[in-house]
Amino acid sequence: MRIVLLGAPGSGKGTQAKKLEADRGIPQISTGDMLREAVAAGTRFGAKAKETMAAGRLVSDDIVLGILSERLARPDAADGFILDGFPRTRKQAADLEELLDELGAPLDAAILLDVDFDNLMKRLTGRRTCSVTGKLLNVYFSPQEEIDECLNAGGELIQREDDNEATIRSRLDVYREQTEPVIDYYRDRNKLRTVEAEGSIDAIYERLRQAL
Ligand code: AMP
Repeated sequence: MRIVLLGAPGSGKGTQAKKLEADRGIPQISTGDMLREAVAAGTRFGAKAKETMAAGRLVSDDIVLGILSERLARPDAADGFILDGFPRTRKQAADLEELLDELGAPLDAAILLDVDFDNLMKRLTGRRTCSVTGKLLNVYFSPQEEIDECLNAGGELIQREDDNEATIRSRLDVYREQTEPVIDYYRDRNKLRTVEAEGSIDAIYERLRQAL
């Protein structure tokens, strides 16, 4: 199964992709995660991307496509993948189509996680990652037991550098202007499926499974 997860920042793409990855045994491929790793490792790409990401803008298509095509060539992606955070522009969507055509492995579907824009600020400002387990948590919405589980394991709740209010506003603007057109790109090709992404993580996952 080769799918793209679409949705605004904070719509739950990463959370749902991780559940799908565990369920189906196909890798989550997050360009955001790969870029953050490149920044942390201080690679040439990372150094270029750092400032752009901190400002909430999009990293150049060339850099992201380069990183993605290398990742898709790895053996674990041969049986399928879940793209999370790519494509973010119509140009990236067209480049992806070309790349997958070359590999003879077209996309099965693009799933839109549809959320109310007004709820996103809280979802994003409350977002944390456990430093020990890597689990995604939210200080407003996660059950206290899940937060305690991290703290009791000696973990810290880490906030992403771009999850501050000013950067979030810019990321949401970028989403509306540059990424929303990607929804129509897949609708026009009959690949789009929409999942209502409000409510509990498990309820959303169930709807996602049905959509697939
Ligand atoms: P994410 O973790 O998906 O929210 O991505 C974090 C940041 O990485 C974004 O705000 C962009 O600066 C950059 N980024 C991730 N994926 C892409 C992409 N497909 N194209 C351009 N920039 C990206």
